[in-house]
Amino acid sequence: MIAERTKKVKPSPTLAVDSKAKELKAKGFDVVNFGVGEPDFDTPEHVKEAAIKAIRDGFTKYTPVGGIDELKEAIIDKLERDNGLKYGKENILVSCGAKHSLYNIAQALFGPGDEVMIPSPYWVSYPDQVLINDAQPVIVETYEEDNFMLQPEVLENKITPKTKALILNSPSNPTGFIYSKKVLEKVAEIALKHNIYIISDEIYEKLIYDDEKHISIASLGEEIKEKTIVVNGLSKSHAMTGWRIGYAAGPVEIIKTMTKIQSQSTSNPTSIAQKAAVAALSGPQDCVEKMRQEFERRRNYLVAGLNSIGGISCKMPKGAFYAFPNISKVLGKKVSNNQINSSMDLSIYLLEQAKVALVPGSAFGAEGYIRISYATSMENLSKGIERIRKALEELK
Ligand code: PMP
Ligand code: GLU
Repeated sequence: MIAERTKKVKPSPTLAVDSKAKELKAKGFDVVNFGVGEPDFDTPEHVKEAAIKAIRDGFTKYTPVGGIDELKEAIIDKLERDNGLKYGKENILVSCGAKHSLYNIAQALFGPGDEVMIPSPYWVSYPDQVLINDAQPVIVETYEEDNFMLQPEVLENKITPKTKALILNSPSNPTGFIYSKKVLEKVAEIALKHNIYIISDEIYEKLIYDDEKHISIASLGEEIKEKTIVVNGLSKSHAMTGWRIGYAAGPVEIIKTMTKIQSQSTSNPTSIAQKAAVAALSGPQDCVEKMRQEFERRRNYLVAGLNSIGGISCKMPKGAFYAFPNISKVLGKKVSNNQINSSMDLSIYLLEQAKVALVPGSAFGAEGYIRISYATSMENLSKGIERIRKALEELK
């Protein structure tokens, strides 16, 4: 029999939508894939070269579990340069993607009886990583009218003696909004008052638009830094999703425990990918800026396109590569006998009728929305927008 614990979790819905879209494509359907959050750019050339060199040099053996010193040093430099955070090697763990770092944190910190606060809309894996470790996710709602900003009073009201941690994600997947310094300061104050850990997922920090600025909550003072585990990675910033390199920075005791867990699960992240990550973090960063500019162009185009469709309204996201339009006006409408009652119904309808793949808001704990990833070409964006427009016009 399969372990009872596993029944509490579901497969990642974002990855499920992506494989469904790819399956339809393989069958010959012309699918526009707005589903998965994965940069469509190629990994920068100098990063690939570093990996090829690693192979040629025979750097193909086990490394220390938590990553090679050279990569830890590159991460330490990055955290100081970009975030004003000072860490030593003992504060860093390199994992097989940020998702793996987050999973190690969940294993190291959460257990039966613990409550973990997760602002919604949330990234799909947070609640399930809490659940598989027998802890309880506590959802803290945020609202479109507040730009999905966490309201500190609402957060504080959800705290109980069992509250262990809060998972923050800024810029946010799926909303694309960014936490202001003022809100972060208030959240830090609450976390310190109630002795709560903060897990700060900063994977989209390089993808920020307009005049917004990314601030790591850990940089707000020594005390809050001691309660925070910062998570970041190369997937989004350097178009390196397949290389599987992410990392965590935090208090020694927690990092040590996470490293112990990793030593009994995956061991080190791939040696070759670690060398590539050193090149990505220490080499020229103009490739990152180039991709960011292209994402910004796509964002502007997509959001204008969505807002020109009847029944859809979309706020301008400030970061990441997602638009999170409100589709509540479409709910209740019908085409022949098919009534669209939920974001899931709409996603299925758009996939089947318009061959556009996207993720329903319900997967992120937010009914009445859909998530559109604009990590795809302008051509696909244009095609997808027109298909959605046409499909929604059919609904009466
Ligand atoms: N956090 C967020 C918010 C994400 O969107 C992703 C994307 N997969 C991850 C973490 C994990 O990224 P990866 O494991 O590829 O580093
Ligand atoms: N983070 C991306 C997304 O939300 C990748 C898929 C995943 O890891 O869930 O689509």
